[in-house]
Amino acid sequence: METAENTINLNFFTAADAAEIFGPNFLDAEVCRQWILKRLHPAGAFCPCCGSSLAGRQATRFWQDRPVCCTECGKTFTARTGTILAGKNLTYQEIILIAYLMARGDSNSEIAEIIGCNRETIRLWRRQIGDVACQEI
Ligand SMILES: [Zn+2]
Repeated sequence: METAENTINLNFFTAADAAEIFGPNFLDAEVCRQWILKRLHPAGAFCPCCGSSLAGRQATRFWQDRPVCCTECGKTFTARTGTILAGKNLTYQEIILIAYLMARGDSNSEIAEIIGCNRETIRLWRRQIGDVACQEI
C-alpha cells in the first residue's frame, strides 16, 4: 500500500532554478502554476493513486490544479496530491517568490515579511528547495 510519504515527488526545483527563470512574467499566477506543475510532473499527468495516464478534459483539469476524478480507480485528486505541495496553502506565485528571494540571499525573516507568513514556514521551505549554501541564513 502506498503512503503519502513514498509518493512524494522529489524531482522538484531548487531556489537557484527559480532565480534563473524569474522575471516579470512570473508575476502572472498562470505562469507560476504551469512552471511549478511541469517541474512536479515532468513525465506528464497521471493519477497518483493508480498511475493511469490522464488525457483530454482530465489532463486539462490536472494542469489547472483542479480536482480530477480518475476514471480507472475513482479516486479524486489534484496536481498537488502526493507531491511536496500537498496540504500547502501557499499560492504558486508565493512559492516562486520564496524560492527567488532565497536564491537572492534574503533571510527567513525578510522573506516571511514579504510573503506575509511566519518564519517557520520559510525555514521549512528552505529545507525543501533552498540552496545548501544559504540554508543557515
Ligand atoms: Zn486512478
